[in-house]
Amino acid sequence: MSRPVAVVTGASSGIGAAVARRLAGEGFDLVLGARRADRLAAVAAETGGRAVALDVTDADSVAAFCATVERCDVLVNNAGGALGLEPVQDADLDRWRWMYEANVLGVARVTKALLEPLAASGDGRVVIVGSIAAFEVYPGGAGYTAAKHAVGALTRTLRLELLGRPVRVIEVDPGMVETEFSAVRFDGDQARADAVYDGMTPLSADDVADVISFAVTRPAHVNLDQVVVRPRDQATARDVHREA
Ligand code: NAP
Repeated sequence: MSRPVAVVTGASSGIGAAVARRLAGEGFDLVLGARRADRLAAVAAETGGRAVALDVTDADSVAAFCATVERCDVLVNNAGGALGLEPVQDADLDRWRWMYEANVLGVARVTKALLEPLAASGDGRVVIVGSIAAFEVYPGGAGYTAAKHAVGALTRTLRLELLGRPVRVIEVDPGMVETEFSAVRFDGDQARADAVYDGMTPLSADDVADVISFAVTRPAHVNLDQVVVRPRDQATARDVHREA
């Protein structure tokens, strides 16, 4: 029998790349998607996966990506991120639109396209990398938290709609994870990104990948339907313990 297949979106860095490494270790064949071809190829080479160009905001790109997937046992919807930290009054709605496209419609596009192969596998698992922003808010975060709240609603709806079919829907909601997330949010301002983690110990991408790998390797009747994982130094999006 051939090996199970995991599809990971946003696999060129951070949590997605770490998930690819973990799932390769669990015996999955990998289909890896992202926009940066060089970075994606490096992760594919390291994990034995297949790198396929993917922009989840582009319907044609998603269709071309999904057309290369014949078997799908696990789908990890991880591609996404935040742009900016402005109050609503100063919101750049083009950036909000991107966040909605990438985080919400991206998940919908890829999941729609792969639901039939997931069900046909007999034990499909759809992982959605949400965020504590799916159920918390913080000043300056409205564009991102609104999008992640929508992802949470999509996830819970999907679970209702799939009841009775052999597909588990698993929402993993991380708190602070040190990846390229903050550098992307602050348009490449690395000093500002580093300051986010000043004096505290964030999660690593591998900490989150560990949780995802655990969730997708439980027996078929067990669904970790929502997992919130934060650093010990973080109680809420706004309450973070920092050493002086
Ligand atoms: P990251 O290092 O910036 O990784 C983001 C990944 O998403 C990259 O591989 C990026 O690849 C991909 N991506 C972005 N836009 C895409 C698009 N339009 N099409 C395809 N791929 C796209 O950040 P990360 O922390 O690992 O983020 C992964 C997920 O975790 C995101 O959904 C994020 O919202 C969520 N999250 C992160 C944190 C955190 O604190 N870091 C906390 C909670 C949730 P390309 O640029 O090569 O396309």
